[in-house]
Amino acid sequence: MTIANVIVDVPASQVNQTYDYSIPLEYRGVLKAGMRVVIPFGPRKITGFVIGTTDHSDYKNLKEILEVLDLTPVLTPELLKLGKWLADDTISLYITAYQAMLPQALKSSYKKEIVRLKDSRLSDELEQLFAGRDVLDYHELTDAPDANDQYRHLQQAIQDGDIYINYLVKSRAAKKYLTMIKPAKEMHILEEAYANLAIQATKQKQLLSFFITHPVSIEQSQLMKTLDISQSVIKSLLDKSLLTKEKKEVYRNPYEGREFTKTEKLSLTKEQSIAIAPIKDSIAKDEHHIFLLHGVTGSGKTEVYLQSIEDVLNKGKEAIVLVPEISLTPQMVKRFKGRFGSNVAVMHSALSPGEKYDEWRRIHRKEVQVVVGARSAIFAPFENLGIIIMDEEHETSYKQEDNPRYHARDVAIKRAESHHCPIVLGSATPTLESNARARKGVYKLVTLSERTNQQEMPHVEVIDMRQELHAGNRTMFSRTLVEKMKERISHGEQIVLLLNRRGYSTFALCRDCGHVQECPHCDIALTYHKNNHQLKCHYCAYEEPMPSLCPNCESNLIRFFGTGTQRVEEALSSVIPEATVIRMDVDTTRRKGSHERLLSDFGNKKGNILLGTQMIAKGLDFENVTLVGVLTADSMLHLPDFRSSEKTFQLLTQVSGRAGRHELVGEVVIQTYTPDHYSVQLASQYDYDTFYFKEMATRKLFRYPPYVFLTLITIAQENKVYVIQTAQEIAKLLMKHIQKDTVILGPTPSPIARIKDKYRYQLMIKYRNEPRLKAFIKKIMEHYAEEIRKNDLQITVDVQPYQLM
Ligand code: ADP
Ligand code: ZN
Ligand code: ZN
Repeated sequence: MTIANVIVDVPASQVNQTYDYSIPLEYRGVLKAGMRVVIPFGPRKITGFVIGTTDHSDYKNLKEILEVLDLTPVLTPELLKLGKWLADDTISLYITAYQAMLPQALKSSYKKEIVRLKDSRLSDELEQLFAGRDVLDYHELTDAPDANDQYRHLQQAIQDGDIYINYLVKSRAAKKYLTMIKPAKEMHILEEAYANLAIQATKQKQLLSFFITHPVSIEQSQLMKTLDISQSVIKSLLDKSLLTKEKKEVYRNPYEGREFTKTEKLSLTKEQSIAIAPIKDSIAKDEHHIFLLHGVTGSGKTEVYLQSIEDVLNKGKEAIVLVPEISLTPQMVKRFKGRFGSNVAVMHSALSPGEKYDEWRRIHRKEVQVVVGARSAIFAPFENLGIIIMDEEHETSYKQEDNPRYHARDVAIKRAESHHCPIVLGSATPTLESNARARKGVYKLVTLSERTNQQEMPHVEVIDMRQELHAGNRTMFSRTLVEKMKERISHGEQIVLLLNRRGYSTFALCRDCGHVQECPHCDIALTYHKNNHQLKCHYCAYEEPMPSLCPNCESNLIRFFGTGTQRVEEALSSVIPEATVIRMDVDTTRRKGSHERLLSDFGNKKGNILLGTQMIAKGLDFENVTLVGVLTADSMLHLPDFRSSEKTFQLLTQVSGRAGRHELVGEVVIQTYTPDHYSVQLASQYDYDTFYFKEMATRKLFRYPPYVFLTLITIAQENKVYVIQTAQEIAKLLMKHIQKDTVILGPTPSPIARIKDKYRYQLMIKYRNEPRLKAFIKKIMEHYAEEIRKNDLQITVDVQPYQLM
């Protein structure tokens, strides 16, 4: 083969096609589809993916490939095909699809070296090349005159496992510290010192007064920026021992040097045996089926996964296990590593690029047969897949909210199809979409309706918080919940408290004029962060200090509102002083290993109450937890999202499932302002089926998925008029090509109408059958390519959107 078809790394729709390049002599027979290359593109040198090789091109005077970046393909033939499908399915570029499949380390050009394994026996040519060394710079090879022969020998040696290519990723694991400044003395001493400072020491006074009003730890450079002071000012107060310095570690490196105790397989319950039978059958016969494993919390779904995987491994095949990011807890990892040991790779977003690459490489080199990971683990470069498992299939984090906007479930089904293997979608609360397919017989339904400990699901009590208010209780805890918490604590049992914060945030509000401090670049309220007393925008990087006076009316009654976990913790300690609380939220889990430490502290009974946000709702399994409380069950019911009832039902069911998983009987208290809402009511009765039918009827009435498909087009730019015009134009273009029963809603402003100074308008397309819609939207994107480039216009297309903001 003398010609390569290359997808080039230029993220623009005009170049979303393959380009032909001629293969230089030294790479002939070496270069294969799935490898990355460096090619000339216009005046630039860029990278690209070879997706095929051929001897014929319609073009003359082809340019030559400059460099080959891989000696073994990084994308398998299956993944190459999958990438093409993925790009078409999500209306994104081929290059973005391929890049989404690879670890970060392979996306940029890192220095490479060729490493020889200990005791390896190499051909004479390679011995000569290594000349007694264990490591070679990759460039030594590309510069060699007889490179072609060398490449062939190397490829063979890589295949034989005698050498490997190492990508030198800058190690993020190297520890990095931030310098934090905080008061060193009691408040009255600071105040005294302030009074004693010389009049002309204005900067020192300013700094000291800052800490008198904000007695917290703050990062040094942040402090300098906020107060516009130099380091010497800080130093003078440090020297006077009024302030003190501390080091705070950033970045983390989990699962390091951990040992996992080996677990043996359990003998299955009757229900489990019935559920697993068709899955095992499908594995044995290499048949592709989609199983929906609907099993209540605590019904032993994981054991079903583990024993299915065991069958797959016995056949010499491989398994992918997808777990939502927040469920990928050390407990979860332990269950898989405990059973399959070092045969398991873990792909977690908290890993550094270097660690991620190492895990990927273990898969690529076939050193492991099982990968457990979040969304992107679906692209694990296995070539002999025997099963794909997707736990908690209802989780919306399986949808990527960035190009390519894929749903891991769709990709998983596609891969299972090509490998003729089963896929198991597991959940206690399957999505309406999946359940509807199972009812139609498209998926095979298997059910686990009982807990493995034969216990009833914990009893749920719904508390009407309006009644509490009427009765004069102004705290965030109902009397029932407080009473039950006290009782559990006195018995030495433990409690999980969930603050449902989605849709909530702590914002700054003026009690006098009602002014809410918003981001100057985005139409959204700023969020208050207590640790450094800043207001931050969650959509752009903007932040400012919490004002002490209202910027609107100069009243000093500006306060932050909303319920943060910190406030709950404070309130809790005044209601139940004897309780020790372990708080888990983004703030307390930022430091390395802290997530794991907090959980193991709770497991070791170092706290009575585990208090946290969504991150504690899933996957946790503690023997001693007998009471689960949900503080604000309805906080997401009012979001502009047709899935809000479904999400509420799912969350309440999941969190209730954390109680009474072992010997002790559990109980649940749900606090809400809308006790009669069907998602609260039915979740408290564990009545999935009634919820399913009721919600389906609503979806049918208002024409929402799964009765129709949705595609969301968002248009954004700094000029509002231009955005509206463009949106109208696109709507018109679409109108000409759609079916009669297709509806286009909009253009309307997006729920967040401005982000980073760009106005946002959206079009929502609702349709039942539009086989040509994707192709047509692709054409529209090409039509606007020039404006996108010249005017910084953004058109984003989200096929089957989950985030409607
Ligand atoms: P789910 O994922 O469905 O919520 P789990 O897989 O966490 O449930 O199982 C709940 C508990 O039951 C776990 O502690 C697990 O070890 C235990 N378990 C699972 N299967 C069996 C079995 N066949 N016999 C005994 N205990 C089991
Ligand atoms: Zn005001
Ligand atoms: Zn902003």
